[in-house]
Amino acid sequence: MRHFGTTIFAEMSALAVRTGAVNLGQGFPDNDGPPEMLEAAAEALRTGHNQYPPGPGIPALRAAIAGHQRRFWSLEYDPDGEVLVTAGATEAVAAAILGLCEAGDEVVCFEPYYDSYAASIALAGAVRRPVTLQPADGGRYSFDPDELRAAFGPRTRVVLLNSPHNPTGKVFTRAELTQIAELCQEHGVYAVTDEVYEHLVYSDAAEPVHIPLASLPGMRERTVRISSAGKTFSCTGWKIGWASGPAELITAVTRVKQFLTYVNGAPFQPAVAVALGLPDSYYDGFRGGLEARRDQLVAGLTDAGFGVLPSEGTYFVTADITPLGGTDGMEFCRSLPERSGVVAVPTEVFYDDPRAGKRLVRFAFCKRPDVIDEAARRLRG
Ligand code: PMP
Ligand code: GLN
Repeated sequence: MRHFGTTIFAEMSALAVRTGAVNLGQGFPDNDGPPEMLEAAAEALRTGHNQYPPGPGIPALRAAIAGHQRRFWSLEYDPDGEVLVTAGATEAVAAAILGLCEAGDEVVCFEPYYDSYAASIALAGAVRRPVTLQPADGGRYSFDPDELRAAFGPRTRVVLLNSPHNPTGKVFTRAELTQIAELCQEHGVYAVTDEVYEHLVYSDAAEPVHIPLASLPGMRERTVRISSAGKTFSCTGWKIGWASGPAELITAVTRVKQFLTYVNGAPFQPAVAVALGLPDSYYDGFRGGLEARRDQLVAGLTDAGFGVLPSEGTYFVTADITPLGGTDGMEFCRSLPERSGVVAVPTEVFYDDPRAGKRLVRFAFCKRPDVIDEAARRLRG
């Protein structure tokens, strides 16, 4: 693991602290989650929910996770055996890859990919087969279907898919998901889906609704579907995530998970159960608020001269630095705090082929409107 070094998020957040820059790098909100959830956590702390919870997660949370998937995505999972609570989506992804892959197996993923994917695949002794997302028509990121097909072979064990996608903000369309689903079935491959931004698909997306891969024909039985409370309820530090899928796959994930953390977050589990049951108005307000902040940041970046690419979902927008004379995103981001007092993340670190993302940087808009305004003001100079 030596060559993995330090994550870009830690490096850039440390740079923000050191320079006093506005941190639009690491994706964490600067407000707390819903008060009902915070109150439930405080109550749980005071009323004895402070020891190891059950291995798969407390029954109330597993029931709430199953209920949430039925309510929003019409997906049915048995809370007893088909749902596992994890230490964030990060642990769920790691345990799924470790549980499903043998050394030498191949994992198809889309680059730029979330950094923990490469580490999880390496820990399993597996091999990543990235398919590159490139800005195409109108800047929307897409992939070449032939490249995707060519990535599948006799050693392919898993497709690891993230939609809505970090760092590009791409939301995979039904047509794109169908291509992936057909290849999974043709090659007898499992899917592991990271859907932590499931509630952040914006109204102008090419596919303005989130579609879980598991909801496509033939996919539920081969998919481990992963999400987490961190993004949806603005509590990234709580690290409550979950995996859902057919019992035999969840058993494989659990086998690994029990030796990674065993369990976590006892007082947060009942609180997340409360949050998952919040009315539609919470979820609509959350998405609407983030969409407005996306628009605010996109306007600011455009004014500052960036080549802003469309963001259809997530906390993030990517931008081309070429119009500003930039040629190297890493260099650009390392000097941006000194030059402008703002931190962004270079996306080249999320590619196997760093040239593909060399001129792209990522900004997070999960911040208060005044913080985004201040960043935009500084970037305009
Ligand atoms: N997957 C993606 C795509 C993410 O952007 C993030 C985090 N920000 C995670 C996983 C990690 O989620 P968690 O904090 O629940 O582990
Ligand atoms: N997911 C967050 C992001 O993309 C970072 C989480 C982390 O620091 N590992 O910014």
